[in-house]
Amino acid sequence: LQRQYVQEIHLPAETTDGQRIKLYLNAGLLSGLESEIADGSDGIGLYRTEIPFMLQQRFPSESEQIAVYKQVLQAVNGRPVTMRSLDVGGDKPLPYFPIKEENPFLGWRGIRLSLDHPELFLVQIRAMLQANGAGTQLSVLLPMVSNLEEIDHALEYFEQAYQELKADVDPNLSRPRVGIMLEVPVLLFQLEEVAKRVDFISVGSNDLTQYLLAVDRNNPRVTSLFDSYHPGVLRSLKNAHEQCVAYGLESSVCGEMAGEPAGALLLAAMGYRHLSMNQGSLARINYLLRRVSLEELKALLQEAMSKRSGQDVRELLREYLAQKD
Ligand code: PEP
Ligand code: MG
Repeated sequence: LQRQYVQEIHLPAETTDGQRIKLYLNAGLLSGLESEIADGSDGIGLYRTEIPFMLQQRFPSESEQIAVYKQVLQAVNGRPVTMRSLDVGGDKPLPYFPIKEENPFLGWRGIRLSLDHPELFLVQIRAMLQANGAGTQLSVLLPMVSNLEEIDHALEYFEQAYQELKADVDPNLSRPRVGIMLEVPVLLFQLEEVAKRVDFISVGSNDLTQYLLAVDRNNPRVTSLFDSYHPGVLRSLKNAHEQCVAYGLESSVCGEMAGEPAGALLLAAMGYRHLSMNQGSLARINYLLRRVSLEELKALLQEAMSKRSGQDVRELLREYLAQKD
């Protein structure tokens, strides 16, 4: 069956009633990325820069980072690439930058660390800007944002890096779009203000689920409680999309559920038109989306959101999917 999915990967993902859904890749390393899949995608929706950092013995230099980011931008032949600034901390330690904390998921992660170490953040932004050239399409994404000040400070550093490079290196330097991850729930109540500051949001449904439900995403004791299909989580995701439409903010989803058949269908029904996933999921999600109608999916979503539990939602989707695959 997987072969059958891959055979059709070059067809655009479009529902039977004509709604195009763009499908992107999540990546952190390029080795192992199949060119057939990369060519069948609409670009890279999440490039996790912490992965190449984790493989080093020390922080990579500006020129080392430029080389890595160039490869990424060129891997998808001019299609868009959303590159996320360093998201270490939490479950992603750097061997040469140990962080000891009792609650790492509530601790020094993502943008918090970058803003406390502007010397690292500026180098990373400078490297991204210089890697982006003629024929590549970079967007920059900021992880773990929990307030507007962090956005403003990060944008000031971004502007500094941009102006310095423009003056010193390339007067025609292009200016990438900037967005934030929506993964800390409080921002669900400040999207109007977020929209005034950035070009897009990318919903990190892994962390958003973890923080909405107060369940450690990696603790085996409570895995059964970690559930992106919890009807309350689904409502939050739908609400986020509705607000993005109201405030003119582009949105996408890059958490694991975007690459799961049930998740992709529900997200499409909510209105999300940009889904980013691991390469192993892309062909199947594409195949599936071309066999469903949006109208049907909307009814399914309505029913899902009224269920008692995530378990019941999964069961409903299992029955639906059994008729499609
Ligand atoms: C997420 O939180 O959903 C996400 C995509 O980011 P990460 O899994 O890298 O934390
Ligand atoms: Mg995350």
